[in-house]
Amino acid sequence: MAVVKADAYGHGLDIAVEAIAGGVQWFAVANLEEALAVRCLAPGHPVLILGPVLPFERSRVVREGFVPMISSYEEAAHFAAGPGRPPTPVHLAVDTGMGRIGVWERDAVGLAQALSGVEGVRVCGVGSHFPSADEEEGYTRAQADLFARLTAELRGRGLVHGPAHIANSAGVIGYSESAGELYRAGLALYGCSPLPEFQSELRPVMRWKARVSLVRDFGVGRSVSYGRTFVTEKPTRVATVTVGYADGFRRHLSGRGAEVLVGGSRCAVLGRVTMDQIMVDVTAAGDAAPGSEVVLLGEEGGQAVTVGELARNAGTIPWEIFTGIGPRVRRLGVD
Ligand SMILES: *Cc1c(COP(=O)(O)O)cnc(C)c1O
Repeated sequence: MAVVKADAYGHGLDIAVEAIAGGVQWFAVANLEEALAVRCLAPGHPVLILGPVLPFERSRVVREGFVPMISSYEEAAHFAAGPGRPPTPVHLAVDTGMGRIGVWERDAVGLAQALSGVEGVRVCGVGSHFPSADEEEGYTRAQADLFARLTAELRGRGLVHGPAHIANSAGVIGYSESAGELYRAGLALYGCSPLPEFQSELRPVMRWKARVSLVRDFGVGRSVSYGRTFVTEKPTRVATVTVGYADGFRRHLSGRGAEVLVGGSRCAVLGRVTMDQIMVDVTAAGDAAPGSEVVLLGEEGGQAVTVGELARNAGTIPWEIFTGIGPRVRRLGVD
């Protein structure tokens, strides 16, 4: 199951779905609007909606045949198809520790039993979520075991007619042997491993680039950007670059040692990130000129800036860097 919520983690939904559709059975999204967009792009694939569907959206979900995750009897009953219609497939969400959606694990069998008596609904899958698969191994193993026992019991009683799923990317990579038979992969699909020791097995999908718009030579003692947090201590060639925090190049990257690639050289970001522009030290970058490409994320000339590096420097996580890349950044699919 390819998780393509949030514009395919900022990669561009249309590009990602087209690239992935041939290799996956399911798509997963956060909400109805995203489900409708995926349906247009890949009409043949089932679409799971990960978050609770809002009450006024439920009838549309039934009509379109999207698969909701349900947390309670009342919620599930709302999805019941009308008389003479095939039952709506729903997946039972079980809260085994995430504390976000789902029925408590001890109530799962009871809920599934109750739903087996509801005409218009069929429990076609059961899912849970790892809150800590990239941080707590012991906890995650215990959670996977609990989910496996629960799934076995539900199946033994004939209450679930379809796949069990609990693994996000960290679950797929670290716990695949005990994590159900359907994997909800997000971050890993885009080439970033939530477990750094496995990063070498994945290839990043995205290159994020901007351009040099201006190059100037600064003498000693010149200040750079808002707040004048950086002042040159030696003659410095400074490039102005066409990206800013409005594009998702986060303001928290200011003064934190962030670097970009110009002509294959690592170049320091100087002073604060502004809304539309950053300034970069290109003294060592040879022939940087207006129009030169600047790699913000990706490889060039044997150097690489990873989303992990960008996230660390910004004090956040790769998921937030990807999904924060703004609509002003044009997405291009490249084979
Ligand atoms: C976003 C999400 C995923 C994907 O998580 P990754 O860590 O990006 O693989 C899986 N399951 C649920 C319920 C999610 O919300």
